[in-house]
Amino acid sequence: MNHNFPVLIAEDDPVSRILLKKILHKAGYEVTSVENGRKALDLFNDKSFPVILTDWMMPEIDGLELCRIIRNKAFEGYIYIILLTAKDSKDDIVKGLEAGADDYLTKPFNRAELLARLNTAIRILKLEESLKKANEEIRIISITDPLTGCYNRAFMTQCLSQEIQRARRYNHAFSLILCDIDKFKIINDTYGHQTGDKILEEFTQCIMMSIRNDIDMLFRYGGDEFLIALPETDIKGACTLAERLRESVSQKRITAQEKQIRITSSFGVTDFDPTTTDEEISSETLISRADKCLYKAKKEGRNMTRADKP
Ligand code: GH3
Ligand code: MG
Repeated sequence: MNHNFPVLIAEDDPVSRILLKKILHKAGYEVTSVENGRKALDLFNDKSFPVILTDWMMPEIDGLELCRIIRNKAFEGYIYIILLTAKDSKDDIVKGLEAGADDYLTKPFNRAELLARLNTAIRILKLEESLKKANEEIRIISITDPLTGCYNRAFMTQCLSQEIQRARRYNHAFSLILCDIDKFKIINDTYGHQTGDKILEEFTQCIMMSIRNDIDMLFRYGGDEFLIALPETDIKGACTLAERLRESVSQKRITAQEKQIRITSSFGVTDFDPTTTDEEISSETLISRADKCLYKAKKEGRNMTRADKP
């Protein structure tokens, strides 16, 4: 049974329409029916139908035209179109397929054949769905750091230039925080690489819990260095956040090898001035400014936040 799979029927002949509706309904489909292509298209304003069963000859917009219009529009999911037609010459069938139909049934149709062809439609649509899901999973993997789950550096480059462009265009604030675990080499040397990995994970968890996950973005810049992009945030707000993060990292007790390990981290903060006329300011410029501040925080004793403006 194909429970609740939505199918749209476009058929001007009431007898045929009612019959189709009845057969499909009985087979478990969620059926909507209209009298012509125009009405079918109107319905697409509110909702999409993955399968259309359309007659060829209809007033206003016929089945062929409906196929062409649907194929020229960008719908989110694929729309599988079965053309119902009394025309059964090879030329007509080719014409229908060329207009964008996936399949056709000649009238008078056979009930079992109709249901079998709908099953094919659903098999293909489900395949498309699983491909889309797999693609999305691959996309997520391609932008994520596997150890910590935050965004990776390749994605960072793309996001930062977009955010700078947006801040420039809309005159919005945009800040960056670069942070780095203090003396992480010693942690690795003392507790081993695995514990080092666990600390990296816990460090990023601690940060993720304190940022606005729907707006702010956390990237692994490399090794034990992370970058936080803060759209709509000025340097004052970014410094406050950096201090809050620094504080909560230093308070955290990480359990590993039956020990409670404590770490500290240092923060460098900078912002993008949206009123700047300097077109040269890029993500590299901002990162290098944040890096200088981070270096200052390290040099002045670590477990500190330093910004490039007072
Ligand atoms: P500083 O306070 O100056 O930052 O000192 P540090 O010891 O943290 O110095 P640095 O940032 O240069 O060292 C980073 C270390 O992080 C070196 C490297 O072995 C280690 N590291 C990099 N990536 C990973 C990783 O994925 N897992 C683990 N366990 N260690 C890593
Ligand atoms: Mg470090």
